[in-house]
Amino acid sequence: MKIRDIQIDPYGLWVFDNDGTLYRNTSCIREAVEKKMNSFIAEYFRIEFEAAEEKRRELLKQHQTTYTLIAMRHEGVDPNVFLNATYLSVVPEEYGITKNDELREVICNLTGEKVVLTNNPSQFASLILDSLGISDLFSHVYGMMEISFMSKPHKRAFDVIARAVDCHRSVVYVDDQLDNVLAVHSMGVETILAYDPAQAKCAPGYYAASLSNGEVYHVGASSTLMRRA
Ligand SMILES: [Mg+2]
Repeated sequence: MKIRDIQIDPYGLWVFDNDGTLYRNTSCIREAVEKKMNSFIAEYFRIEFEAAEEKRRELLKQHQTTYTLIAMRHEGVDPNVFLNATYLSVVPEEYGITKNDELREVICNLTGEKVVLTNNPSQFASLILDSLGISDLFSHVYGMMEISFMSKPHKRAFDVIARAVDCHRSVVYVDDQLDNVLAVHSMGVETILAYDPAQAKCAPGYYAASLSNGEVYHVGASSTLMRRA
């Protein structure tokens, strides 16, 4: 079936993860951002660049996070300064993240409001969405700062979805990470696991081998609360 058929409610909400969901080639740009982070850390702590990766790992462990921005914030660094020197100083096109007309058409054809919910900074997601040529299709981009530095699949990271459910809005959630899909599906929301065939058999709701062709397959139990009351 087509992804657009999952939701026909004009007041419904589509919530998309960004990295690995709206674009696939995540590792190259992530490595480029991490290299910028190591340069920042080397300068900030006045250590050699070669020692910065080890220092970054130590900081992540110390501050119990997988996000260097959050660890550096705990070290007293202004998140916006760190953001500009790292995430926002890469050019997505240099890593093959370019205009995707097929994806644009699929998202254009979805009924309802569309938003992005990402564990990375919203400004970085907007940079990616601009490169894909789809940023105008989303009403909001919620990133780590907007979700109070909580990371999916932490319950509080999904507050925007919880609020929509409380208002009896129909919500469809799309993510490439099974943990996130399971967390959102347990809130009574219809879900689509994107791209990961190895995890498809464990996923509830729907599975999409590619978002760009707009095809989804029903693989598990659907939420019973997805439709508006
Ligand atoms: Mg993802």
